[in-house]
Amino acid sequence: MDLNELKNDWISEFANPMIIAGPCSAESEAQMLETAKRLKESGAEISAFRAGIWKPRTKPNGFEGVGVIGLNWLKKVKEEFGFKTATEVANAHHVFAALEADVDILWIGARSTVNPFTVQEIAQALRGTDKPVLVKNPVNPDLALWIGALERLLGQGVENIGAIHRGFSTYQKTKYRNIPNWQIALDFKNQFPNIPLFIDPSHICGNRTGLAGVAQEAFNVGYQGAIIESHCDPDNAWSDASQQITPEVLAGMITNLQVRNSDI
Ligand code: PEP
Ligand code: MN
Repeated sequence: MDLNELKNDWISEFANPMIIAGPCSAESEAQMLETAKRLKESGAEISAFRAGIWKPRTKPNGFEGVGVIGLNWLKKVKEEFGFKTATEVANAHHVFAALEADVDILWIGARSTVNPFTVQEIAQALRGTDKPVLVKNPVNPDLALWIGALERLLGQGVENIGAIHRGFSTYQKTKYRNIPNWQIALDFKNQFPNIPLFIDPSHICGNRTGLAGVAQEAFNVGYQGAIIESHCDPDNAWSDASQQITPEVLAGMITNLQVRNSDI
């Protein structure tokens, strides 16, 4: 089977657009529950609650995620607020722990997508799962690596897949944290029109002011979803503070986004 033969009907179980929101990192049970509660109360149509448990940080000796205890907090978010849950997996151990804890949606981060050995290990650990698995673009602008990661998943019988456009590293000073390089994502979309494509404006922008514009640009060209970082106290977040927004700000932003009707 190749990627263009996939049915990709898993996404139709979710709202259009499918919004995944929650903090960059799980920090404490209180922070997770407070963020989830406010996302719920905001009235925004959120399909899943995200939080990183294992955090791929650029430098050592900083906060590298709370680890498996965060899986219990994701479970509580699901039980108390009814959200499906999503987290990043970066090795086989993460996959086994996340599957065991019944996390609903898994994603492969940009620093993992660059490494075929890592992706292969993750894919094998996921073998045959019917949970949705989303693959972020690699940090470098390499379309083939991005596609290759999806093919590795498919090779292990993982058929409910999607792609996340989170921008690409650059040494140049730009207004973006990771330049969107829209053409790469559009080439992806043209090659695989049926694979659900998500925008990650948080990691593209690296700030709060650009989020809505980047998300709108993506919806204008038919992306089906977005993953957006939202934290109950963004200024004091333990990672990616400058790009996180409160649940209330997120709800307002979602209300104002125009979504292209996929039937036209
Ligand atoms: C994240 O989603 O918090 C994250 C680490 O993202 P990326 O892999 O896109 O850098
Ligand atoms: Mn982040």
